[in-house]
Amino acid sequence: NQADLSEDRTVLYDKATFVDPDNNLALMSELRDALRTNEVSLHYQPKRKTSDGTTASVEALCRWHHPVRGRIGPDLFIPIAEQTGQIRALTEWSIVKAIEDQAAMRARGVHIAIALNVSGRLLVDQAFRTRALQLIEGCDADLIFEITETAVIENPKIAAQAIAAYRAAGVRISIDDYGAGLSSLSYLKMLNADELKIDRSLILDVVESARDRLIIKSTVDLAHGLGMTVVSEGVETAEVFDTLAALGCDTIQGYWVSRPLPFADLVDFMLRSDAESRLALAR
Ligand code: C2E
Ligand code: MG
Ligand code: MG
Ligand code: MG
Repeated sequence: NQADLSEDRTVLYDKATFVDPDNNLALMSELRDALRTNEVSLHYQPKRKTSDGTTASVEALCRWHHPVRGRIGPDLFIPIAEQTGQIRALTEWSIVKAIEDQAAMRARGVHIAIALNVSGRLLVDQAFRTRALQLIEGCDADLIFEITETAVIENPKIAAQAIAAYRAAGVRISIDDYGAGLSSLSYLKMLNADELKIDRSLILDVVESARDRLIIKSTVDLAHGLGMTVVSEGVETAEVFDTLAALGCDTIQGYWVSRPLPFADLVDFMLRSDAESRLALAR
């Protein structure tokens, strides 16, 4: 019965079934292969300095192009990879890939820091720490770890030790999605970071709402007082960009600056936009 089979297939690839534990196993063994066969790739989204319009760094965001299921977004497979422990292999792969891409850009005369998303669970994983430091050592990489899912940091002491070890190895630390969780202030107390990344949900109404501007302003001042730079994510309009710049945000990321770009388009973007910024400044 052909019809039944194809219906099953539709159900199998339905979004809801990805969170079904019976399907996770299949998907995750496929992910292991996907890392080897280039089905997974890194796209890069620039963060633009408000001071001079040049690119401060780029964030690596992974994409999975599955031969049968099509494009699978990170919002779908990262949570499953975290549950199954595959996140470690994925993140180690992304470190290797980012270092490789950074070296390729250097060869073309473009020096840019690359930010990688590291989940809170991995931050406290000793085996990951050892491997990550091995990968980074001696290869002259300029990396930033964006710590995501800070809500799952159950052991702040080990997290703080890991952060100290990464910073000693020259890796900068960014606190991702700041303000989205409930106890954000306690992360500032326990995590010694270089960058604070304000969550998109906090900046959505910043043009219209004086109250929201006050929240951003005091967050910016707090971060600056603690020696951190501030970046806002998810900025989609010039109005929001200008408002955040006026409130003291050092860096802005979002569709208004650029969508995440395939690596092949990144160097061209950087050469073009940085040249435009310098021209605009000179005017
Ligand atoms: P994130 O680190 O907070 O990344 C920002 C997400 O917002 C990205 O979605 C990005 O494409 C999207 N975004 C950027 N600018 C805008 C904008 O102006 N408007 C809107 N509406 N959205 C914008 P993406 O690529 O789907 O990634 C989702 C999340 O998946 C990331 O959130 C990150 O937490 C996680 N992720 C992605 N790649 C990796 C990875 O390699 N490792 C780990 N651990 N997590 C990853
Ligand atoms: Mg991030
Ligand atoms: Mg974020
Ligand atoms: Mg976010």
